[in-house]
Amino acid sequence: MSELAGQVAVVTGAGRGIGRAVAKRIAREGALVVCTDVMDPSETVEIISKDGGAAEGMVFDVTSAEAVDDAVKSIHERHGRIDILVNNAGITRDQLLVRMKPEEWRQVLAINLDGAFTMTQPVARIMMRQRSGRIVGISSVVGLMGNAGQCNYAASKAGLIGFTKSLARELGSRGVTVNAVAPGYIQTPMTDKLTDAQREALLRSLAIPRLGTPEDIAEAVAFLVGPGGSYITGTVLNVSGGLYT
Ligand code: NAD
Repeated sequence: MSELAGQVAVVTGAGRGIGRAVAKRIAREGALVVCTDVMDPSETVEIISKDGGAAEGMVFDVTSAEAVDDAVKSIHERHGRIDILVNNAGITRDQLLVRMKPEEWRQVLAINLDGAFTMTQPVARIMMRQRSGRIVGISSVVGLMGNAGQCNYAASKAGLIGFTKSLARELGSRGVTVNAVAPGYIQTPMTDKLTDAQREALLRSLAIPRLGTPEDIAEAVAFLVGPGGSYITGTVLNVSGGLYT
């Protein structure tokens, strides 16, 4: 498969979990994938290389505007273009609102929402000049339906959806699409913390009674950034096994 041959993709939070699966899937389509993370993403790069794909790793924090600007500049200088941006880096700091520390609120908003702004701004400028590009944000069904214990996380993911819909309207005439994918519960280090009882209750609430896989999300992203996604912008693709319909 080579739907994305010659394209340059940037995936944040690509060191593990959903970001790694997305990076692998896009690389399989022939794109060169810059795997970025605040921790060392070299394992993802090695996996892609062994698979015959093209990838490189970069370490930076999406909350540092200076580091992000330097990274985007250097990617653009090295490769001459950026065709795909996947804003995937994200964290949870779950707590009931009445017990939530301001720091837990701020950290989640800073990485999940401000991080997407910081990454997207310099990349959008490049894509506008190219008159082509695909931007995908990894939101969550929690941003659509809410979830007790996740006011901070839900606010960040709902914010990302508003950001997506607005930016889609700003960039559509420049050949750039902007969409979000809203995963349900996906088996990754982020959800490994669920107790057996929580897991069983969760499975009962799904239309398709299994946890999602990072690959399920990667397929949705690959569709949106591929040729089939060319007339889709400002949407939220719900990939949750029917957790929220
Ligand atoms: P994960 O914790 O396995 O991976 C997140 C990655 O983001 C990590 O590699 C981490 O190092 C990186 N990261 C964290 N802070 C960063 C920062 N400041 N700068 C750069 N990178 C940073 O989580 P995951 O489950 O793979 O989640 C990926 C995305 O999918 C997140 O945005 C998450 O909110 C979203 N999501 C996950 C689920 C799920 O069930 N796992 C459900 C809905 C949405």
